[in-house]
Amino acid sequence: MNQTVRIRPDGSREPLGAAYDTALLDLDGVVYAGGEAIAYAVESLGTARDGGMHLAYVTNNAARTPETVAAHLTDLGVPAEPSDVITSAQAVARLIADQIPAGSRVLVIGAEGLRVALEERGLVPVDSADDDPAAVAQGYGGPDMPWSRLAEASYAVARGVPWFASNTDLTIPSARGIAPGNGAAVQVVRIATGAEPQVAGKPLPPMHRETVLRTGAARPLVVGDRLDTDIEGAHVGGVDSLLVLTGVTTAAQLLAAPPEHRPTYVAEDLRGLLLAQPDVDAVDGGFRCGGWTAAVADGELALTGSGEPIDGLRALCGAAWSAAGSGECELDAGKALARLGF
Ligand SMILES: [Mg+2]
Repeated sequence: MNQTVRIRPDGSREPLGAAYDTALLDLDGVVYAGGEAIAYAVESLGTARDGGMHLAYVTNNAARTPETVAAHLTDLGVPAEPSDVITSAQAVARLIADQIPAGSRVLVIGAEGLRVALEERGLVPVDSADDDPAAVAQGYGGPDMPWSRLAEASYAVARGVPWFASNTDLTIPSARGIAPGNGAAVQVVRIATGAEPQVAGKPLPPMHRETVLRTGAARPLVVGDRLDTDIEGAHVGGVDSLLVLTGVTTAAQLLAAPPEHRPTYVAEDLRGLLLAQPDVDAVDGGFRCGGWTAAVADGELALTGSGEPIDGLRALCGAAWSAAGSGECELDAGKALARLGF
């Protein structure tokens, strides 16, 4: 990791929407969940945009085209253009185009978003391992993708055709629960062939490179709900990040985060973009934020004071990350988090 060990969340005297020129927003768990807008997302993004912040949407989901994602966002009340959407399909298409000549055939295991992204880079999508592909591109194909597509990938990969994956998220949230994501499908081909794909999506550098190339962001802020994709991707790219607690990450997981998973800032939801961020100050024997002081006492994380719950969580991050150093904090924070309602 190219960042020193973070031992507390940062403060910002300016609202984050003014301190950074571009928000690189994850979608699921940040802007929407199960297709519906998350509380405060629509109005917060509208206010941030009116204040001059450029909003871009960065998703590891390779199945949908930027046009489809932009239309969905616009329907939810978050006006977006296709050029505001960056997908792992675009990132993997560029990764492939850097390694094989334009006009080459690429076996597509996935959906429309991947096919369109490959065509955009001058590559020719094909459907069969017998079409003499120069590469295999694997992305999320949706819940109805037939098993025979994974066989098709395996035939080509086993012959030594270079294999690329849009992303390796093991799961994908659905309205009915946790479903297997592209990473699970990649594992199937990996087990069948013993081969390893080149991967583009968050948290890896190809996705960050694609995002910076397409947005031209000078001072970006990554905004996400997942520590091992969004926040780690920000570390890999060397840029600041905001974790929102509207998605998959719990407060307890945040406290236990190793250095590469620690965000610069933490907020309950996207209203955090509109606010200055309070400092977390090291004080005698602990860390203070707002009206709260957090410290290690009797082998667990303890909290004194009162105030906004999110400030209490920020103070706890200071105490937990400081105690853990470059490792993961294993101290119990159950009572302190219960007091905050997290
Ligand atoms: Mg997410």
